[in-house]
Amino acid sequence: MARQLVIGNWKMHGSVGQVRTVLPELVRAELGSNIAICVAYPYLALAKSLLSESAIQLGAQDVCEFHIGAYTGEVSPAMLADVGCELVIVGHSERRRYFNETSEMAARKVKAALDGGLLPVYCVGETQAQRDAGIARDVIAEELQVLAGVPTSLYAVAYEPSWAVGTGVIATPEQIAEMHAFIKQTLDTRTRVLYGGSVKADNAAQVLATDGVDGVLVGGAALSAAEFLKICSQAR
Ligand code: 13P
Repeated sequence: MARQLVIGNWKMHGSVGQVRTVLPELVRAELGSNIAICVAYPYLALAKSLLSESAIQLGAQDVCEFHIGAYTGEVSPAMLADVGCELVIVGHSERRRYFNETSEMAARKVKAALDGGLLPVYCVGETQAQRDAGIARDVIAEELQVLAGVPTSLYAVAYEPSWAVGTGVIATPEQIAEMHAFIKQTLDTRTRVLYGGSVKADNAAQVLATDGVDGVLVGGAALSAAEFLKICSQAR
C-alpha cells in the first residue's frame, strides 16, 4: 500500500524568512516523498531550491484553469510545474467561500492541472449548517459529481469539513471514517482520500489510524517545523 500523504498548506502565511527557517528543518529530518508543502506563490521557487536535496514534494494552493494568455494575476499549471511543483490544492473551502469558486470551476482547474502534469488535490466538505440539516453526503456527492469522467487514480480528494478548518474542532474518527467511506464508495475504493481540518501534533495519530484515511492536509500546524514533523512521523 502507498504511504499516507501529509500535505502542509501554509495558506496566506509565511515570509522569505519563515520559508528559509522551516524548510531546511524539514529537509534535515529526511522526510520521504509522501510529504508535501504548499507555500504561497511568491515563495515556490525559493522553496524548491531549499528542497532540492530532499524527497519532499512542493505544491501550490491554487491554479488557473487556463493554460496561457491575458489572465492578469493568474498562474498556469505549466508555470507551477516549471518552478518545481508536483501537486496543487484545488477547490479549497476558503477559495469557495471567499472567492466564489464553484465546483465547476474547480473541475476545470483539476483538468488543467492534470494536463500540466500536476497531482490535483481536490477539496470537498460540508458546512456546519449543511451537516445540521443532514445533507452533508448530498453536498459532497454534488462536489464530486463534477469530476465524472476524470480517472480517479489521477487525483486525490481532501475531505475538509469547513466547520473543522481553522476552528480547532476536529471531526471525530467516526465522522471521518463515514465520510471517507462515502467518498470512496462514490468514486472508487482506491481513491486517495485525505482528511483536513484542525489536524495537530496531538491528534494526528488518531486521524491517521482511522479507517479510510490515506493522509492529512494540515493548515496551521504546518507552519511550525516541530509540529509538522510530529504529524509526519505518524504517517504509515
Ligand atoms: P487547519 O489545519 O488550520 O484547520 O486548516 C486545514 C486546511 O484548510 C488545510 O487545507
